[in-house]
Amino acid sequence: MDYTKLAQLLFPDVKLSEQDIFNRYPKRKLKSSQVVTRFAPSPTGYMHIGNFFQAFISFNLAKNSDGILFLRIEDTDQKREIKEAKQVIYKVLEEYGIKFDEYQTLEGKDIGNYGPYVQSERKEIYKVFAKKLVSEGKAFPCFCKKTEGKEDVLKLREEKFINDDEKEYDPCRDLSLDEVKKHLDNGESFAIRFKTQNKGHERIKFYDLIKGELEAKANAKDFVLLKSDGTPPYAFAHVVDDTLMGTTIVVRGEEYISSTPAHLELFDALEFERIAYCHNPLIYKLNENGNRRKISKRYDPESNMQFFAENGYPKESLLEYLLNMINSGFELWRKNNPELPWQDFKFEVNQITTVAPIFDIVKLNDISKNIIVKLTGVELYKNWLSYAKTYDKTLADILEQDSEKFIKLCQMDRDGQIKPRKDIYNYGMMKEYFDYIFHQPTEFELEEKDKENANEFIKEYLQSFKMPTSNEEWFNDVKVVAGRLGYAIDNKQYKQNPENFKGNIAKACEFIRIAITGRKNSPTLYNIIDILGEEEIKNRLRIKF
Ligand code: GLU
Repeated sequence: MDYTKLAQLLFPDVKLSEQDIFNRYPKRKLKSSQVVTRFAPSPTGYMHIGNFFQAFISFNLAKNSDGILFLRIEDTDQKREIKEAKQVIYKVLEEYGIKFDEYQTLEGKDIGNYGPYVQSERKEIYKVFAKKLVSEGKAFPCFCKKTEGKEDVLKLREEKFINDDEKEYDPCRDLSLDEVKKHLDNGESFAIRFKTQNKGHERIKFYDLIKGELEAKANAKDFVLLKSDGTPPYAFAHVVDDTLMGTTIVVRGEEYISSTPAHLELFDALEFERIAYCHNPLIYKLNENGNRRKISKRYDPESNMQFFAENGYPKESLLEYLLNMINSGFELWRKNNPELPWQDFKFEVNQITTVAPIFDIVKLNDISKNIIVKLTGVELYKNWLSYAKTYDKTLADILEQDSEKFIKLCQMDRDGQIKPRKDIYNYGMMKEYFDYIFHQPTEFELEEKDKENANEFIKEYLQSFKMPTSNEEWFNDVKVVAGRLGYAIDNKQYKQNPENFKGNIAKACEFIRIAITGRKNSPTLYNIIDILGEEEIKNRLRIKF
């Protein structure tokens, strides 16, 4: 078989040689310590947390080595309009500060010398390498429609594939030049398939930067390199692009481990240098039975990055949580360096966890509380407002109209405190958390047995109520009323003879708290009184439980 002729027949328009292409992509001049890596999402219309996790690992590897991070959009498999899907990806990455050294702008301008950074614009390149493989007898045209059709595919496969348990050789792999010509003369379209040299699925070993030595079944299938429309499925595009674009570490999800042997075979067939792989673990969740399963789009809202934006999690909360997942050493580092930005935490590729991380919202909330607690009241107010402007316009209006009041609210138990309250973990919860500021409570955490005493106390307190100007003044006023009604002002006395009193001073305060906020627990009551103002407080004290 004259493979050069075959290649010419199949690709008469491809004039460039592989050397021409290589000339366009000169080797990057970098120190060996500098990592070149990438994030290569397929535009699907949403950003899965697992994909983002990967982007974040790549970002850190490049940053920590003073290397290069590029973004490659893998849109060869896209039947639908991808513009919006691309926007989603760009938006999330930008919001989280994942900056790329090289990428294509949304307007289609390539930034960097290794573009185009969008696969659908690289078809010409893939053809050159497919032609090379054909001309060396390592790939062949396939005229079966099985790469495109649906039912016939399966049928054809059964009938025509030389298929046994061990290998999947394609029936077209041995077509003669004349047979190929005949198909072409009939105007039939063709795919290009790789002609595997393997005769079976013996297990092969390869090295992974995170997991060390791995083993997987060798490829023994004549897989597709180019579909009939000239687009490459993942394997071929990955090998060609990562080589030309000078990737030094391929960071990708561990779901690719089983197909790595096929990719390695392709590197070798193309005579490309193999690139180091770093297969990161996928993120799991525990289900009710305590079993783990992959976090999924279908069942877990947190699988979509949008979840964190919608709930108003600070960006750093999620990033720090993911750093925790990537390397458990982060937690101790954070404890020892509470003031440093997370960007100062450095890790090496071989320090990335091999254990599947389990997504735990409680842990995320915990991290987030520690981040929000560091904000000043004004910062908290600003972040809350900016969140509301996107997700709750009515709330945003209220926050803006009464900004002084809400800033005070945000400053409460925070500014100037040695131990500020640590309850808030996202901006989405704040409206509910402070619901008593927005409206009079309709439910009260009052125990049935306390009703009578509470009604009596609140009535008396209202009668003598005057707006306090300090916490002490407020507390003194309460004491006066409480003392008058038979509550113990001194806790010691109360403890000695509780039967002599209606309750202690704490109980009296609790009644006021419940009347004003509906709750047994709240931030400092004096502050709430100060924020709500005299009229509103009096109104609320008119309650009859
Ligand atoms: N487009 C692939 C994906 O989103 C990229 C995998 C890779 O990074 O190589 O899964």
